[in-house]
Amino acid sequence: MAEAVQEREQVLVEFNESLEQRIAERTFELRQARDEALAAQRIANENARLKSEFLATMSHELRTPMNAIEGFTSIMLSGMGGVEFNEKTGRYVQRVNANSKRLLGLINDFLDLSRIESGRLELANLPFSPRDAAMRWKEEIGVLAQKKNLNFEVSIDPDIPETVRGDEEALSKVALNLLSNAIKFTETGSVALKLESDDDAWRIEVSDTGIGIPMHAREFIFEEFRQVDQSTKRKYGGTGLGLAIAQRFVRSMGGTITVKSEVGQGSTFTVTLPATREPENVAEVIA
Ligand code: ADP
Repeated sequence: MAEAVQEREQVLVEFNESLEQRIAERTFELRQARDEALAAQRIANENARLKSEFLATMSHELRTPMNAIEGFTSIMLSGMGGVEFNEKTGRYVQRVNANSKRLLGLINDFLDLSRIESGRLELANLPFSPRDAAMRWKEEIGVLAQKKNLNFEVSIDPDIPETVRGDEEALSKVALNLLSNAIKFTETGSVALKLESDDDAWRIEVSDTGIGIPMHAREFIFEEFRQVDQSTKRKYGGTGLGLAIAQRFVRSMGGTITVKSEVGQGSTFTVTLPATREPENVAEVIA
């Protein structure tokens, strides 16, 4: 009897020992897996940082010579440099000038994107007048609408605050991008810019009577390099960076950007911003 008890105790002890050993082994394996995951994450973060830094440096370096090409060809075309062309060379210089402008735009987009991604974007938080900004956008973009014979309507809610705090330059990039898209993707009808306001927010609404955006594309068009489909690029050009940058800028300002659309009828993009922006750490907001 005593022997049987002893034997059972022995079995129990051995069972406990093997259990403890298995737990220790499993704990070791889990720790190892956790350390490996942490190391992989550190490498991924470092790679992302290096990529953004590389893009920022490259864009900056490319901008300087491109500015020179654009600047000097503009001077030549304006006749200020005392350079004379015949009709053919004039056309060539015009092409160089137009393409350098396009390339500069692209480089600036890359620079914006890489600055945002690396958390190095510093947005201003200064007072500006939304009404005056809208008038400038109208002036800047109105000619494009005229060229395509589109109506361009601007309406400003009388309750819009006299001044709001924020980064006017960044917001102008957002608005001009939405407006130039609206014009680009509209063949007939109109494009409208509306400023609206309620208690604690104000909105920039850009609508058009253009080709519209299919349901499945309404989210991914805000991702980098995404366009509705391949035919968009063939027909309208563009890079698919504008909305990605616009969304990041708007989020950094504590706002949102949304789209409503009907294929063949048109689209409306709405940027909603807090009426007074509190100072905040942009890098944190983007993360
Ligand atoms: P890009 O205009 O350079 O292609 P964006 O990021 O500004 O890049 O826009 C991404 C895509 O979203 C466009 O290529 C187009 O397919 C679609 N899109 C944007 N705005 C409009 C609009 N107003 N009407 C129709 N499609 C639009």
